[in-house]
Amino acid sequence: MSQQVVSVVIPAYNEAGAIEPVYRAAGEAIEQAGFNFEIIFVNDGSRDGTDEEVAALHEKDHRVKLINLSRNFGQHVAVTAGLEHASGSAVILMDCDLQDDPSTLPRFIQMWQEGYDVVYALRTDRKENFLKRLAFSAFHRVNHALSEIHVPSDAGLFCIMSRRVIDELNRFKERNRYLPGLRFWVGFKQTGIQVPRLARYDDKPRVSLSRLVLLSMDSLISSSKVPLRLATFLGFLMFCFAAVLSAYVIYSKYISFKAIPGWASEVGLILFFGSTQFIILGILGEYIARIYDEVKMRPLYIVETKLGAFGFQKSESE
Ligand code: UDP
Ligand code: MG
Repeated sequence: MSQQVVSVVIPAYNEAGAIEPVYRAAGEAIEQAGFNFEIIFVNDGSRDGTDEEVAALHEKDHRVKLINLSRNFGQHVAVTAGLEHASGSAVILMDCDLQDDPSTLPRFIQMWQEGYDVVYALRTDRKENFLKRLAFSAFHRVNHALSEIHVPSDAGLFCIMSRRVIDELNRFKERNRYLPGLRFWVGFKQTGIQVPRLARYDDKPRVSLSRLVLLSMDSLISSSKVPLRLATFLGFLMFCFAAVLSAYVIYSKYISFKAIPGWASEVGLILFFGSTQFIILGILGEYIARIYDEVKMRPLYIVETKLGAFGFQKSESE
């Protein structure tokens, strides 16, 4: 067995029922690949005894470690907390709901051993309902088209990352985090493998639909300036349109004398310009809201308690 340790970081929000099976399946898979492991469960403010479940496992196996956050911070922040505490030569990120098939872990590890810094899962067949699948696919495509860096479509969080990628990710201070985007931004040698996404063990997603919508906006806005530039572009188009229209108005009034008292076109224009301005204001607002978030420079998360020996961690006062 290799001396190297592979860390597994698992965010858990009310997942008491899945802790044991996930631990067993992931642990076995990594041992089968010939590596030691630590499994870090980040309890994201659960209220169903998730922490007790992990603590009980920790008693039996000290390679199981627990970080209790002081409240619910959301999946991507929970993962960040885990990453900052992971000491392995590589870190695997996976969900706590058995949707990320643990039996595929040896494949990830093998590819990391072959020299890849990041191996991420490309989700092939999603088990979610049709509407959700449609929304995911639309999001990934828009994101792909507008982003300045091209995060591969359908790349999820499920992945293995080498130490140097984790060290770089740990330097990212931004608060509006969409990890697949940040991970891709780091660069080095990356590749995706097809991994079927299994069904959730209890069919009750913990990430709500509104969070997903917010996350997709975070992702788009943090990786693209296109929406912001839309204002300039639309403004320019409207200016051209207005110039042509003014010429026509002058022509009708002073040359052809066909000007009629037309309220319809007037109201139409007001509505059109009014609504566009609101859209643009909204887009500006989205960016400003995020800038506001960033300049506050609050800590990203607060750890309440920890269980287990953490080989590596950033100082919490940072
Ligand atoms: N999760 C979390 N904090 C939250 C919501 C979810 O740590 O506020 C965890 C959850 O326990 C699971 C993972 O994030 O391990 C993915 O959650 P879910 O299965 O609901 O998301 P989806 O599969 O829809 O991406
Ligand atoms: Mg899930």
